[in-house]
Amino acid sequence: MPVFEYEHLDGECELGEHRFAILHSVGEGELRFCPWCGKDVRRVVSPVQFRTRSGFSAAKAAKHGLTTWKRARKGEWEKVDGPGVDGIISSEEDRAALEAETQAEPDR
Ligand SMILES: [Zn+2]
Repeated sequence: MPVFEYEHLDGECELGEHRFAILHSVGEGELRFCPWCGKDVRRVVSPVQFRTRSGFSAAKAAKHGLTTWKRARKGEWEKVDGPGVDGIISSEEDRAALEAETQAEPDR
């Protein structure tokens, strides 16, 4: 599963996680906003730097202050490693907004 690193478009996260990494499949689409503070985020295009011969190392990333989460199910992430919170569960409202945003995309 690929790792996607995200950063906030506009300054710091309210929870202090300016950059974070999410493990998810390409088909799940990009995150449009931070699961914590709701601000806009963008996917960092450059390759994730924390790779070993066996692939991405969340533990190594954690040493650099980057927290990695993997998506457990829609709107929910659980932490793999790093200093961040143990889990993220989006509110129903956030999920609905995400759905709406995803569906609106082709019309842009
Ligand atoms: Zn945030």
